[in-house]
Amino acid sequence: MHERVDEPGFEEKTAARVERALPVWCERLGLSGKCDVVEFLPDGTPYPVEYKHGKKREKLHDDLQLAAQAVCLEEMTGKAVPKGAIYHHSSRRRREVAITPALRTKLEETVAAVRAMLSSGKLPAPVNDARCRECSLADICQPQALAGKSRQHEVAASLYEVSE
Ligand code: SF4
Repeated sequence: MHERVDEPGFEEKTAARVERALPVWCERLGLSGKCDVVEFLPDGTPYPVEYKHGKKREKLHDDLQLAAQAVCLEEMTGKAVPKGAIYHHSSRRRREVAITPALRTKLEETVAAVRAMLSSGKLPAPVNDARCRECSLADICQPQALAGKSRQHEVAASLYEVSE
């Protein structure tokens, strides 16, 4: 699905430069990843665009992911990143997301909670529900096989490295 970032409507024509699959990182929060697309506006301001194949979700994961990308791009470029967008393939529309102080706070709380969970060596049991169908981690998580088996989760947790 990510190969379709070239489809019409994905990019704004106002972007001065567009980078795809751009590696990003934030040393302050210990984050690293890759942005589907980053449009650089004429003044150099990065504008991340995250590609999603489904509809807008009720929970905040997409917005948090975009906020994490914005924080990474701010640290890397020194430019403020006040907004970005989620591109929903199903509707072929962009949903612009403001990187608000509240979203940044939620991001920092989430990063701290994930770090604490990984440091504890215990992962929560797989949810094994509708969320798993679209999850890119399903192959390694194996929610159907591991649902309710906490011991395996402890083993799985040791496979993760926590960036200090
Ligand atoms: S596959 Fe695993 S990580 Fe993904 S949503 Fe299901 S339980 Fe969560």
